[in-house]
Order: sequence, then structure tokens, then C-alpha cells
Amino acid sequence: KTSAPLLRIAGLASGYGRVGILSDIDLEVHPKEIVVILGPNGAGKTTLLNSISGVAKATAGSITFDGEDITNARPEAVVRKGLAHCPEGRQIFQRLTVEENLVTAYLGRGGRSFEDLRDQAFEMFPILKERRNGMASRMSGGQQQMLAVARALMAEPKLLMLDEPSLGLAPLIAHQIFRIILDLSSDGMSVLLVEQNVQLALECGDHAYLLNTGRVRLQGNAQQIAAHSALSEAYLGGA
Ligand code: ATP
Repeated sequence: KTSAPLLRIAGLASGYGRVGILSDIDLEVHPKEIVVILGPNGAGKTTLLNSISGVAKATAGSITFDGEDITNARPEAVVRKGLAHCPEGRQIFQRLTVEENLVTAYLGRGGRSFEDLRDQAFEMFPILKERRNGMASRMSGGQQQMLAVARALMAEPKLLMLDEPSLGLAPLIAHQIFRIILDLSSDGMSVLLVEQNVQLALECGDHAYLLNTGRVRLQGNAQQIAAHSALSEAYLGGA
């Protein structure tokens, strides 16, 4: 790859309090790239995203984003640099309306107005426009997931991290979300994606990392990873 990486993780160890979860993690995301993190339950995928966004603490190594060291930076500082995290379980405000949820996520970071970003989100997810004044809690799981992605986009991120965006969604809705992830990437955004739907993730990803018990066990371009026997072994508990 010719470009400098947008995100570079080197020798990262991290965890929660004194509990170490990840060790020796090296990972890069280049501009416009979709990088997928795979691995069985408990492998440390969410912890990796949490370490990048400043929620879990790094105990060794470094995280560099857009040329700046963000190791153990505060979550608010990380998102203000243009690295947005759409967490697992969505974590939208159930008792606010769709539009109010978007307002709370607007930072005025990249210079575009709230209305401009909101309208772009409404274009991407027409159902959110239809439901703009409805309570978030009244929406289906798929609609709430769309709102979670739309919220993350209100920060005008250069890199969007998504934790299991298809979890619990009907296949058609999951494909719709992935279609939008691909569109965002072709518009120039980088994406770091944790996904349990391995097939869908590898269809859309450029590069993939396989995590197991807190370490990178395998990495390569999506086709290489899809063809690798270690992938099925990891999911069957053999790795
Ligand atoms: P899943 O697909 O099940 O979410 P994962 O690969 O995302 O798995 P993590 O959620 O990162 O895995 O969990 C990795 C390990 O960290 C697990 O052993 C888990 O029990 C532990 N863990 C997760 N959150 C915390 C926490 N807040 N405090 C302590 N340990 C945690």
C-alpha cells in the first residue's frame, strides 16, 4: 500500500482495570479501506474498538490516528479528531426522538451544518426521515441500528468503527446496512468493522484480521482470509 495508514496500532496490550484482554496487536487501516475484525465470542473484538475509542485502557503499545498519538485519549477527544464509534447494542437515546438523537451527536467538527448532515442521513435512511419526530424506542431493531449509524455519521468521521451492525437483523436489513457501509467507503470514509456474519463481512471488506484469545491469529486481504482454514477452525474452537 502506498498511502500512509489513517489508523496504526502497534504492539497494543489493553484491558479493563487490571484485567488484560489484548496483547501484541498490530493493525492498520488505510484511507478508504474497509477493515474487518473477525473472531469467536470473547476474542476481544469489542475490547479492541473500545481501546481505540478510549474506553478500555492501553497498557503497552501505541495507537496513532491521522498522524496523532491517541493512545489512552479520552473518548470525546477521539471522536473530535474524526474517529467515530458505533457501539454494540446501539446505545441510542430511547426516550428521545430520531431527530433529537441526531442533534445530540452533532459536534460541528468538520464545518458542515447540522441540517446538512441530517438531510444526508435522511437520504441514506429514508425511514429515519419518516420517523424523525417519533420516539426512538418505538422503532424496530433494524431502524434503531440505522439510527445508530446515522448518529455516528453526525461526527463527520474519517474513520467509522462499527461493532456488529447486523446483529439481530433480518438478512435484507443487514444487506441494506452493508450497502451503505460500501457507499460510505467509496465516498472516502475508512471503516473498521466487527462483524459476526463472516461471509457478509468478507464480501464487503478489503482486509481482515482474525482475533482469538486477545491476539491477532491471522490477517490478510478478504479473499485470502475467506479461503483460510484457520478461519473455520477459530469459529469451531480449534484455533
Ligand atoms: P463478543 O462477540 O462476545 O462481544 P468480543 O470478541 O467482542 O466477543 P470482548 O467483548 O472484547 O470480546 O471480550 C473479551 C474479554 O473481555 C471477555 O473475556 C470478556 O469477558 C472480557 N470483558 C469484556 N468487557 C469487560 C469489562 N468491562 N470488564 C472486564 N472484562 C471485560
